[in-house]
Amino acid sequence: MYRFIFLCFATCCLLACRSFEATPYDFPTQVDTRTRPIEMQQKGVFAPEGAQVYADNQFDGARLNDFSQLEEGHFQATILPENSPINPSPYYAFRLWADQARAIRLRLHYPESKHRYWPKISHDGRTWQRLDSAAVLYPPDSVDLSLLLQVGPDTLWVAAQEVTNSGHVRAWCESMAAHPDVSFFSVGQSVQGRDLFCLDVGHGPARGKEVVAILSRQHPPEVTGYLALQAFLEEVLADHALSRAFRAKYRLLVYPLMNPDGVDLGHWRHNAGGIDLNRDWAYYHQPETRQVANHLVRTSRSDRNQVILGLDFHSTYYDIYYTFDNSMVSSIHGFKDFWLMGIADAIPGYHPHDAPNVIAGPVSKNWFFTQFGAEGITYEIGDDTPRDFIREKGKKSAREMMQLLVLR
Ligand SMILES: [Zn+2]
Repeated sequence: MYRFIFLCFATCCLLACRSFEATPYDFPTQVDTRTRPIEMQQKGVFAPEGAQVYADNQFDGARLNDFSQLEEGHFQATILPENSPINPSPYYAFRLWADQARAIRLRLHYPESKHRYWPKISHDGRTWQRLDSAAVLYPPDSVDLSLLLQVGPDTLWVAAQEVTNSGHVRAWCESMAAHPDVSFFSVGQSVQGRDLFCLDVGHGPARGKEVVAILSRQHPPEVTGYLALQAFLEEVLADHALSRAFRAKYRLLVYPLMNPDGVDLGHWRHNAGGIDLNRDWAYYHQPETRQVANHLVRTSRSDRNQVILGLDFHSTYYDIYYTFDNSMVSSIHGFKDFWLMGIADAIPGYHPHDAPNVIAGPVSKNWFFTQFGAEGITYEIGDDTPRDFIREKGKKSAREMMQLLVLR
């Protein structure tokens, strides 16, 4: 008898624990996300013999696999992915210097892909500018790119996008956490042991509130999506009536750096397990997706929160919103149409590009629906979208979201 009661008790405990974990789900399109090997880039200083021009990749977020001299004054930076097959997103970031000031020609060579990111340069690793188009040679029959650069004893940074590594994201999170309505913590560790950051935002007790969940940087080079997320959250934390009303009524759970290993290793797309994390929202084979998914499920269940909206910030060739087809009825069905209309009204001349679809693969947008019945939206920013417009759109889309949700 006692054994039977114990067995019943143990079974109940097991079921209760399981209900606090993210649910496996068979999406119509399935993807094998079990760990695959990656190739680590060799860190160091590259000094082609006799050239007196140097390059290095010794910082978080760097990507440079080789640096050689093709002929006098003409150099080549070789950029390889972490593994393959992989999306054509050849991310690069490295530093250059020379014994004496001189002009060089530098070929960006992608043996396994074609060019994507317009070069940015910096003299301090913090402030960046697009390389002048007169200094970029893009032969129409070539998949590579050549740059005309001035190098000298001072360091010149060259990168696919503004270098934004885990240290930068941590510093930004800490600055956000100075706000009394924000707590900042880690929900776990990546494959290589880096923290998975979370910002928990809201005023007053979290219990019973509805939740907006936000993700970013599943794909390491997608810096412009992260820039939009920063502006979005800063508007939510602004000191005006709408933002205060929103924080009083809702809880925001923000995971700004889903793939810290990929970001610091200068990956094109995958985590240190060699996997596209935004295909792992079915069986959670990778620790990053598993821990963030479980944190959202556990937190919302234990605090009796309902997750109503999930926004996942990414970058692609142009600005676009991947949304649900109207046949998919989420807990806030109709939100995205009003939201995109509001954003269009708030930014004269801008017409949001809506790409609605039904559920197919195991991406976060679909997971928000299958796990919570929530609306899921992939918020894509173009690689080359002007940075001041990204900030404006990030802030205005936060305001429009808050207006719609506060009035619900
Ligand atoms: Zn992406």
